[in-house]
Amino acid sequence: MKKNINFACPKCKIILFSEMKKWYYCLDCNEKYPVKENIPILIFDYAEPLLKEDIIECNQSWKQSTE
Ligand SMILES: [Zn+2]
Repeated sequence: MKKNINFACPKCKIILFSEMKKWYYCLDCNEKYPVKENIPILIFDYAEPLLKEDIIECNQSWKQSTE
């Protein structure tokens, strides 16, 4: 089920962290980019600030994937 397609942040060029294919997170810029119809919208205008919950979710998923 998991696809290993990586997208880079349009601002800082680091690899974005995806969660449930709904958002692509940039933990460096503290922003997230939406996914619409399976296509990530990596445009500044669509970016939303990361919330505390988002960061917790990222950290949990990151732990699970490295264990
Ligand atoms: Zn970034």
